[in-house]
Amino acid sequence: ARYRTGEGWYDARLTAYGPLQVDPATAALHYAQSIFEGLKAYAQPDGSVATFRPEANAARFVRGAQRLAMPPVPDEAFLAAVDALVEADRDWVPTGADQTLYLRPYQLASEPFLGVRPAQEYLFLVIASPAGPYFPRGVQPVSVYLSEDYIRAAPGGTGEVKCAGNYAASLLAQEQAIAAGCDQVVWLDALEKRYVEEMGGMNLFFVLGSGAGAELVTPELTGTLLPGITRDSLITLARERGHRVTERRFSVDEWRAGVADGSVTETFACGTAAVITPVGEVKARTGGFTVGDGTPGPIAMGLREALLDIQHGRVPDTRGWLHRVA
Ligand code: PLP
Repeated sequence: ARYRTGEGWYDARLTAYGPLQVDPATAALHYAQSIFEGLKAYAQPDGSVATFRPEANAARFVRGAQRLAMPPVPDEAFLAAVDALVEADRDWVPTGADQTLYLRPYQLASEPFLGVRPAQEYLFLVIASPAGPYFPRGVQPVSVYLSEDYIRAAPGGTGEVKCAGNYAASLLAQEQAIAAGCDQVVWLDALEKRYVEEMGGMNLFFVLGSGAGAELVTPELTGTLLPGITRDSLITLARERGHRVTERRFSVDEWRAGVADGSVTETFACGTAAVITPVGEVKARTGGFTVGDGTPGPIAMGLREALLDIQHGRVPDTRGWLHRVA
């Protein structure tokens, strides 16, 4: 779909995948007025196809557009576009274990204009690709590197929206994590570099204690974290399973001390791509530590299975999270 100031959204259509022709002065290429979303379509046991909480992606897309001074795509148009693509690509929704059709809606400033001001023309697109299981050889804990040189987001910045620039700015820190022998970067708060915020493109949870009485802590949404839809879903699921879930700031010191005295039993990251990824080893300039015995923990794995069961339709969808498409 296209947008022009004065006309609104127009020319919405489903076309074959192909290159876009863009003017060299296209505003998004220069000033990164660009946002995206990520969600999946899941083949259901009855032969239908469903997406998971797409209304939440639509709402986050609107908030992202507003933060970048772009005209929002109305929720109904976002949902209709995703549905139309899934319906057209129905035969591309894989049916193997933990396989999905990944959907990528995005919006960019398409006006050819080099002045710095909100563009007056935009494109809204949705593309898709079949996606295999994130852990084809079973769930493996990741090692993480605490980024002390770079930050992801500062108060008042764009950390709580999925704008393209956030990801460009994260790449160097991720390279640094890999150079340090780790799989992923962990972001700390920008002001004090004391509090844990996110891991790469995923939110984090810390498990205090074990068994049914375990408490889950996840960094609170201060404006610098992305409000993950998986994060939100896991808060609900964990509470339903009787766990206390607290959204608050969680410091590296508390993490390190908790691992040392055994009170922090598990740490895991969550997001649409991998659902839940346990965190094993933690590296930092100030010294490293290993969470638990470095293997996936029972709370992380239990929640992972519970969420995957809902998404793949293996248990009844009692919360209205599945959106039937085709
Ligand atoms: N944090 C960041 C920075 C992300 O890019 C993502 C992925 O969208 C997430 C967290 C997890 O969000 P969700 O659970 O909605 O996929």
